[in-house]
Parts: sequence; structure tokens; C-alpha cells
Amino acid sequence: MHINENYRNLKESYLFSNIAKKVSEYSAAHPQAKLIRMGIGDVTLPLPKATVDAMVEAAREMGKRETFRGYGPEQGYGFLKESIAAYYARRGVMLDEHEIFVSDGAKSDLGNILDLFTEENVALIPDPVYPAYVDTNIMAGRRVLYMEANEGNGFLPLPDYAVDADIIYLCSPNNPTGAVYGKAALSAWVEYAHAKSAVIFFDAAYEAFIADPSLPRSIYEIPGAKSCAVEFCSFSKIAGFTGTRCGYTVVPKGIMNGELNRMWLHRQTTKFNGVPYIVQRGAAAALTEEGFGQCMANISYYKENARIMAEALESLSIWFTGGKNSPYIWLRCPNGSKSWDFFDTLLKEANVVGTPGAGFGNNGEGYFRLTAFGNREATVEAMERIKELLG
Ligand SMILES: *Cc1c(COP(=O)(O)O)cnc(C)c1O
Repeated sequence: MHINENYRNLKESYLFSNIAKKVSEYSAAHPQAKLIRMGIGDVTLPLPKATVDAMVEAAREMGKRETFRGYGPEQGYGFLKESIAAYYARRGVMLDEHEIFVSDGAKSDLGNILDLFTEENVALIPDPVYPAYVDTNIMAGRRVLYMEANEGNGFLPLPDYAVDADIIYLCSPNNPTGAVYGKAALSAWVEYAHAKSAVIFFDAAYEAFIADPSLPRSIYEIPGAKSCAVEFCSFSKIAGFTGTRCGYTVVPKGIMNGELNRMWLHRQTTKFNGVPYIVQRGAAAALTEEGFGQCMANISYYKENARIMAEALESLSIWFTGGKNSPYIWLRCPNGSKSWDFFDTLLKEANVVGTPGAGFGNNGEGYFRLTAFGNREATVEAMERIKELLG
């Protein structure tokens, strides 16, 4: 047998295990310290009531002979695809039901879509970045080029025509930086993709956090995107589905005269057997008027946390991106500190845990990520401690 030796080229990511180790060592030495965790990018509020009710009802249906369901359509039940299409239509984006593919989450699809592309393709990935984009390409032996995201471009890199790439990754609102692309910048990317015959993978996992109506929540709000972009989205952050698992990918028929759409259908029907009926009912309920209102109430709660965090950083004159249209705040470490040094200071002096920017790529050095997914009291307390420490 011959193993895939590309796996040897993966850099071991010590980010979250390092954080966990430092935190547990500190807690062991200071058992009375009241630590506040603002590091992990996971939601904390429970599922919307409409979702829970729908899943209970669906579970009952599964327990009765007349309403029991076995294998469902690999690409998702019609009722959920219709709800997703209607969700886009409310924002003026019209999708054909056959362009929507329901899955167990955006992370799987972002990795699996690479099945459709040979290893000769060159991937263009922002630095800093959500680590899965890089590692899935390394596993396939693909060449990765990085685009520099930095303070100069507001952590929103624009296309450089001197660079030739085939697969372009964009994440907006961004994890880890919280930065959001405007329409003009996304149009520049769509134009570049057409000029290079490239495909854009647009990760819209945080679209529901966008409050500013002038900012695009889908790349399909940009003319020309339906012939060059695949969009990945998820119920994880909008409806608290990180543990429940449901997402969707849009593969428009405008790309290569529908060939990419047919290939993805073929790939999914061959290697995937669909998302549980119960979960799909829960996801559809999150998009009803009632369910969506409950999702938005949760998102408002997180966004109020983000506002409190932003206000504290402004009062300290600390430079940051994100916060307004995103659950992440990406700040420049004070006094020119390195990311891990600031992590240690914050842990020891304020008992607050964040994420060192250096863990997301070279350009993350000197920056730090805080998340707004915590509870209100802890967020307020953490900001008071940070103001005391740095004020
Ligand atoms: C959380 C997140 C996702 C969602 O992943 P799921 O697999 O759907 O839970 C996708 N992209 C980014 C950048 C994320 O932070």
C-alpha cells in the first residue's frame, strides 16, 4: 500500500491544544481564579424554541409506521431547500432548488468540494485564515499561495493580477478577523475570477451577523458571481447548530454550463447519504418567521456583547477590526506585544482567555482574537478587567 504522503506536509496545529494546556496549568496553580473564556469560536445560547419543537415533532413522526422515513434525498429534502431558496429570495438572490445542497455542515463541504478539482489547481488563501482551508489543500498536494491580510488593507485583501490562482477562498464576515467585504471589493474578486478562469469558494457562515444593509451577505448579490462562485453556509452560527449539524452549499448552474453542479450532485449521491430528517426539520423551522426571530434574538445578544467589547477597546485606543457585523473582534496587541505574550499577560493579569492571532497564520502575529459568544455578565466583567489592566 501507498499512503498519501501529503499528510506529512501538514503542520501540526498546536493552537487550541496549547491554549488548553496553558489554561489548565494556570488553573491548577490558581484554583481560586475566576477565568473568563473568550477564545473558542463556538456558540453558547441554546437552540431556538421553534427548532426544538420541530425536531421533537419530527422524532415522533419517525416513531410511527405511517410517517417513518428511511433514506432521504442525498441533496436534502425539498421542504428545506425551498426554505433556503426563500431565505435568499428575501435578500433579492434567486436560486434554483437544484443549486442548493444540504449537508452536515460547511466544514465538510469546504473539504469535500476539492474532490471536483485536480491537484494541479493553485489555491489562493488569505493569511490569517480559518485553518481548514489550508490543510484540506495540503492533504491533496495542492500548491497554496497566500494573500496578505493586514492593517493596511483592513484585513480584506484585494486581487493582484500578477498572481495566477485557480481556487480562491474568501470568508466574509471573516473568521478570525471579523472584517467584512463591501460590494466593490467583492466585485473586484468576481472580475479577477473571470479573468483567471478561477472559482471562488465563498464562506458565508457568519452572514446573519451583518447588520449594515449596504454590505453583501451573499456573493450572489454581486453581478457575475453565479458563473464563478460556490457559496458555503451553515446553520451553526445563525441557529446554534454547531452540535446539531446542518449546512448547505450553493453550486450555481452558471458555472461551466452546469457541469460543476452535476459533478457535485454526482459526488454527493456517491459519497454522502444525507442529513437526518429530524435535523432538517429543525433547520427549516429556524428559517420560519417565528424561528428566524428567535435566531435573531440570539444573534442580537452576541452582538451586544461585541458592542460592549468594541466600546472597551475604543476607550483604550486599541486598534481592532470586526465587532459590528461579526461575532469576532481582532485587535492589535497593546505595546507591540507578540500574540502569545499578550495571551500570557491576559491570562495571568486579567484571568481572561483569548486566541493568539499568530495561530491563524504569519500575518496574525501581533494580533489577538476575542469572541462575543460568551454570556453577558462574563463579557462585561472581562472588559472591566481588561480596562483595569491596560487603562
Ligand atoms: C464556524 C464556521 C463554519 C461552520 O462550520 P460547520 O461545519 O457548518 O459547523 C464555517 N466556516 C467558518 C470560517 C467558521 O468559523
